[in-house]
Amino acid sequence: MVNSGRYQGDNPENVTISIVFDNNRISDLFESAWGFSCFIEGAAKNILFDTGGDGELLLRNLKKLDKSPSDIGLIVLSHKHSDHVGGLGKILEENGYLDVCMLPSFPDSIKEVVRSLGGRLIETGDSGEIIEGVYTTGKMGSYIEEQSLIIDTDKGLILITGCAHPGIEKIAERAKQILPKEILLIAGGFHLRDKSENEIRAVSESLKNTGVMYAAPSHCSGAKAFEIFREAYGDHYINSGAGKVIPCAGLK
Ligand SMILES: [Zn+2]
Ligand SMILES: [Zn+2]
Repeated sequence: MVNSGRYQGDNPENVTISIVFDNNRISDLFESAWGFSCFIEGAAKNILFDTGGDGELLLRNLKKLDKSPSDIGLIVLSHKHSDHVGGLGKILEENGYLDVCMLPSFPDSIKEVVRSLGGRLIETGDSGEIIEGVYTTGKMGSYIEEQSLIIDTDKGLILITGCAHPGIEKIAERAKQILPKEILLIAGGFHLRDKSENEIRAVSESLKNTGVMYAAPSHCSGAKAFEIFREAYGDHYINSGAGKVIPCAGLK
C-alpha cells in the first residue's frame, strides 16, 4: 500500500466503468457467461476488477469495447471463485507485466498463474490505498474472504463488488468507515439471489439510508433484486450487464 501524500483535488474525476463479463448482458453484441469483470478508466491506472470465468470470452468482450489487455495497468481480484479469476491467465498471457492484487488467502494455484506469466503479485488483506484515489476494503468475510474496490471521486465513492459474499450492506458500511463520504454508486454482484423479496427490499432501503445514490447490480444479484432495486432507485437505477458503460462523471 502506498500513501502518496497527495492533496485534495487529486481524486480521479472522469471515472468510467465498463462491464466486460457478466451473466447478464445489455445487448446482443456482447457475450454473457456466469461471472463478473469490469474495466475501470479514469484513475492513475486502468484497472481490471475480476476476470470473469472464461478468458477467451473476456478478451472478445473487451475488444468490442475497443479495449485490450495492453490497456490494463492493474488487476484486482475480489475473491478466489473461478467465475472471478478464470480469465486471469489469458489476460497475463497477453500482458504479463501487470500488478495483480489479491488476498493472501487465495490458493497457491492462482498465485502461481501470476508468477509463471511474469506478473507481480500484491498480497494484502488490509484496507488501504492501492493506487492514488483507489482503495481496497481489505479482507471481509470469513467463510469466503472477499475484497471490494473503492474509488474516491470528488462526487463521492464508487464501490465495486465482485460477489458481495460478506454482505452488500456490510461492504457499503466498511467503505464509509474507510472514507467517510457519500457513496455515489455501487456496481457489481450484490449476491441477493437466495433472499426473499422482503429481505431484498430491506437491503435496498438500508443502502438508500446509508446514502448510496446510484445502484448498478448485476452478476449474482438475481432477477428479484433487479426489479426491487429498479423500483426503489427509480432513475438512479442503472441497468447493468456485459457491455454496459457507466460514465460516472454523468451521475449526480
Ligand atoms: Zn463467489
Ligand atoms: Zn460470482
